[in-house]
Formats: sequence, structure tokens, C-alpha cells
Amino acid sequence: MTDPNDPRPPGFETLAIHAGAAPDEKTGARNVPIYQSTAYVFDDADHAASLFNLQTFGYIYSRLTNPTVSALEEKVAALEHGRAAVACSTGHAAQMLTMYVLMNPGDNFVASRNLYGGSITQFSHAFKKFGWNVNFVDPADPENFRDAIDKNTKAIFLEVLANPGGIIIDLEPVAAIAKDTGIPLIVDNTMATPYLCKPFEWGADLITHSMTKFLGGHGTSMGGVVVESGRFDWAQNDKFPSMTEPDPAYHGLTFYETFGDFGFSTKAKAVALRDLGPTLAPQNAFNIITGIESLPVRMDRHLQNAQAVAEFLEGHPAVAWVSYAGLKSSPYRALAQKYLPKGPGSVFTFGVKGGYEAGVKVVESVELLSHLANLGDTRSLIIHPASTTHRQLTEDQQIASGAGPDVIRLSIGLETIDDILADLGQALDYAAAKAAE
Ligand SMILES: *Cc1c(COP(=O)(O)O)cnc(C)c1O
Repeated sequence: MTDPNDPRPPGFETLAIHAGAAPDEKTGARNVPIYQSTAYVFDDADHAASLFNLQTFGYIYSRLTNPTVSALEEKVAALEHGRAAVACSTGHAAQMLTMYVLMNPGDNFVASRNLYGGSITQFSHAFKKFGWNVNFVDPADPENFRDAIDKNTKAIFLEVLANPGGIIIDLEPVAAIAKDTGIPLIVDNTMATPYLCKPFEWGADLITHSMTKFLGGHGTSMGGVVVESGRFDWAQNDKFPSMTEPDPAYHGLTFYETFGDFGFSTKAKAVALRDLGPTLAPQNAFNIITGIESLPVRMDRHLQNAQAVAEFLEGHPAVAWVSYAGLKSSPYRALAQKYLPKGPGSVFTFGVKGGYEAGVKVVESVELLSHLANLGDTRSLIIHPASTTHRQLTEDQQIASGAGPDVIRLSIGLETIDDILADLGQALDYAAAKAAE
């Protein structure tokens, strides 16, 4: 039993396995069951009414809530040291639900320009149709965020460890700017995971994840989540009427007043998820729960292998540069040691000599590594962003987001390190020989 005199909270590894996952009370099932049910029986009409009024917590219909999904939400919230979380179908859905709560048509948010390519596209095109505008800034100078904020700005959005360049943003001063201006700082923590970085400890207010990546960890299941710290004061100004004013879509309920430090998650579930509908399937929630149990040991090996690959590439004659914050040559090394003390993840880029053509040759000649558009798998993955994920961007946008023509992105997996090095070595030698022909 837990010693009542031991004030130490459970460690990360313990939470990864046990948070949200108590044995099932009725059956004793040790693993979280997959509740493959769309709906839940009411005790009686009063029970039904109180569920629909959000006066009782319980389950109505799986578009809003499902017990397997709830267990996953509790686990991720615990790992991030947050108050509550909302899981949904994909990382992109998590970004949409978050902005749906914060924004009205005509509003804007300020985002780092160093983001996952799909996020840049979602923000610049799809969100524009909702009347939500985005201002992209160079995150290298935190003051750039302040300069882009105006009276209609409702949030700052960034990735601390940014995809694809392995860039690290100085989080603390950006969090201070968000606080000064009374808007939440949203951190996409997909690449770092809560094992490597805890954005709430540096002043972030909301965290989004693509659970498709390292949290699920096995390349099997799509999922997204948004976690709230519970510390943002939505009533400090009049910028967030959807939190502080009676909601006509919920017969006049005021979410912040009623639910306090988990008001944001409740709104995101009861309104955004209910009305937009990007629900996480219980089978996927189960797969992701299983993935998270081994997150700490997987991340340790991801880091170890990534460091070895980065050092190998830095010494290879066909490689022009390597951008990995674990290297002594990286300008981000000091920021990495501050924000990601265990190591800067296992996704990074390098430049191949010979530009676009050589980049295509390398991805076409790997054998062990998989050429595909994903990251955070047990398998090592490789992609040439300029011809794939960042293809929709102009060349200027590609270069600005760290995905220029010579850039290759790796997501280093868990295979035997000598096998990963041998495969990359032969692909680089082949590309260099072809270029010399
Ligand atoms: C993959 C990814 C997303 C989008 O997540 P999906 O689950 O693919 O919708 C967002 N941010 C980052 C950093 C990602 O890697």
C-alpha cells in the first residue's frame, strides 16, 4: 500500500502504466476494457435529464464520451501534470477543437512558422474558411510573438521541439508574453512527449498532441488530445465569451463559472466534440493506452539511437549538415538542455549534398528504413519533405519551415543501431555515386 508518510508523487513510469487504469470494478479486468458501445442505458428519466444538463458525470453517446477514451484522457492529463484532457480522432482534430473553443470569425492567433507541415496547411487554408486567421512568426526571437499580437488575437501556438527542423523554442519568455497579453499559450508537444518536456512547468496553458506518433508509438492508430493546465483565468478579460458567457447551445450554461479549472475541457467535449464530431474510436484509445505504458523505455532507446545516427551522419562525406540538438555543433544545444534535459527526441533533419535530386535518391534506396509520412514509430522512418509533406508549400515557405530541397527527415526507431547505420550508409553512398556519374 501507499505509505501515507511518503509525500512523493508517483513517478512518470508508474503513471504511464497506472494513471486512469484502475482494475474494472465489476469484472476485475486488469486492463482497461475496450467499451465498444455507441450508447449507454439511463437509470431513469431524471438520470437522463441530469446527464444531458451536465449535472451528473456519466455516459450518453460515444461521440461525446466513452469509458475507454476517458481512461486515456486521464492518463495523458496525469503525464502532462494537467487538470483534464479531451481525446479525439487525430492531432489535427485536437487543434480544431481547441481553436473552436477560443476563436470567433474575425479572430486570429499567432503561430510559430516552424510547425508540422500539415498544421501550416490547416491553419492557412481550412481555418480561414471558419474566419480564423493566423499570423506566422519566426520563433527565434520571442518578441516576434508579442509584435504580432493585436486586439483580436486569442492564442499563441508553437511546437517546443519543432518538426521538421529539430528547432527548439525558448518557451519561458513566450509564456510570459502570453500571460502579459491575457491569452493562452498552446504547445503542440507531439515531438517531445511529456517524458521529455513538460510545457505546463514553463507556463503553457494548453497542450495538444498527435497521439498517432510517440504516445501510441507503434504506427497503428490515429489519435489526438488537448490537455488543459487548469490555471488559465478565462474571466480576466472579455476575449473568451465562449468560456465566460451563457452558451445558447447549452441552454444558457456558463462553462468557466460551472466547471472552473476543467471548464475548457468540458466545453471542448460537450460542445466542440459534440457538434463537430471527430471522436476517437475506443479500439484506437485502447491501442494508444497500451503504447503509452512503454513510452519511457521506448523514448530512452529512441534518444540513444537518434544520437548515434546524428553523430554518424555528421561524419559522413555525402552529408552537408545535421540539425539535431543533441550534437555539440547545434545552436539549440543550450535550449535543449533546459527544456528537454533527457534529450531532444528522435526526429531530426539533415542536408544531403546534391540537393533535391540527391534527397530523392536517398529515400528511394533505403531498405530497412521505411519511406513514408509518419513519425514516432518503433520502425525507423525517412522522408524527403520537399517532395512530400511540405510539397503544398511554396519554396520560400519550405525553406522558412526547415524543409528546403536538400532536407531529409528521419524518425529514428528502435531497431539494432548497427543495422540502422548500415542502411543509411549504403543509401548515402549510392546517392553520392549517382550524383558523381
Ligand atoms: C502528426 C502531427 C500532427 C497532426 O496529427 P495527426 O494525428 O496526423 O492529425 C500535429 N503536430 C505534429 C507535431 C505532428 O507530428
